[in-house]
Amino acid sequence: MDRDRERLVAANEALARRVNDAIDRGHWPGEEDQGTAYRCECTRLDCNRLLELTPAEYERVRAHPRRLVVFPGHECPEVESVIRAMPAYVVVAKRGEAGAVAEADDPRD
Ligand SMILES: [Zn+2]
Repeated sequence: MDRDRERLVAANEALARRVNDAIDRGHWPGEEDQGTAYRCECTRLDCNRLLELTPAEYERVRAHPRRLVVFPGHECPEVESVIRAMPAYVVVAKRGEAGAVAEADDPRD
């Protein structure tokens, strides 16, 4: 991946995480175990896929700044390792440079 594309991808992922944070904030206490549509956080710039997971599951992913949640098949083995594969979503961890960028771009910092 060249540098320009890497930057674009990182910006896109940071945006997806901000959208998902907003989705998360829209929940009332007690709704942590209800299936919710989150945006796919993959490297595809034109991806509009929604993933169904519970706010509690999403929080477990976001507890690690290098981890992202993507639609099955949207993982990018070039820069990501699969942490957990579920039928509805896959948790990936960014490696190396991409990991440092994901950490720096985490909107929760
Ligand atoms: Zn995707």
